Amino acid sequence: MIGLNSGYFIYALPALILGLIAQAWVQRAYAKWLRVRNGANITGLDAARHITGRNGMQLQIEGTRGTLSDHYDPRSNTLRLSQGVAQQPSVASLAIVAHELGHAQQDAQQFALLRLRSGLVPMVNIASWLGPLLFMLGLFLRVYDLAWVGVACFAAAAVFSLVTLPVELDASRRGLALLKQNGLLYGEEERKGVREVLTAAALTYVAGLVQSFANLMYYGSFLGGGRRRSG
Ligand SMILES: [Zn+2]
Repeated sequence: MIGLNSGYFIYALPALILGLIAQAWVQRAYAKWLRVRNGANITGLDAARHITGRNGMQLQIEGTRGTLSDHYDPRSNTLRLSQGVAQQPSVASLAIVAHELGHAQQDAQQFALLRLRSGLVPMVNIASWLGPLLFMLGLFLRVYDLAWVGVACFAAAAVFSLVTLPVELDASRRGLALLKQNGLLYGEEERKGVREVLTAAALTYVAGLVQSFANLMYYGSFLGGGRRRSG
C-alpha cells in the first residue's frame, strides 16, 4: 500500500544500506578476530569468571544459542555467552565479554541511561508493532490522525535508539578498562583487535539510530506529502 515516494530514496534507502554495511562489518571483524588467539590464552567464559571474581561482580553466567547473540540481562542479572565466545580463547571473545561485563557494571552502578533504556523497553516493544499497524490502518481508513499516532510510535523507537547509543559506547569503554585492569590485554595487536570488534559493534548502533530516524522521517514525509496531495 505504501508506494515509494522521494522520502524513501532520501531517508530510508541510504539508512538501510548503512545498516547492511554495519552488519557486514561487525560480522567480518568478529570472524577475523575469533581466529586470533588472545595473549592470555583464555576463553570468553574463563575471562568472564576471572573479571567477575576479581571485581566482586555478582552475576550468573549462562550459554545462549546463535552467533553474536551474547548479552547481559539486567532483569535476571545474567551474562549470556554464545558458544563461540564462551569456548574460544580468542581476541573477539575478550572484546565481547568485556562489552557485556561493561553492561553488568552499568547495572551494578545504576548507570542512569541504562535504567532509562530498560524502562523504555516495554513501551518500545509495543510501539514497534503498533506503529506500522496504526500507520497502515490510518492510511487505509483515511483517518490521518490515527496514522500520525503510528508516526509517534516511530518517534518512540527513535528516542529509544538515541538512548541506546551512549549506553553501548559506555559499555565498551568500561569493558576495555576492565580488560586492562585485570591484565587481560596483551600487546598492540590484541588491543587493535579488541577495538576493531567494539568499534564495528558500535557502528551497528549508530546505523540503528540513523535507521530509526530515517524511518520516522520517511513515514512522516509520506503522510505529510499524502495529506498535502489530498488536501
Ligand atoms: Zn551492548
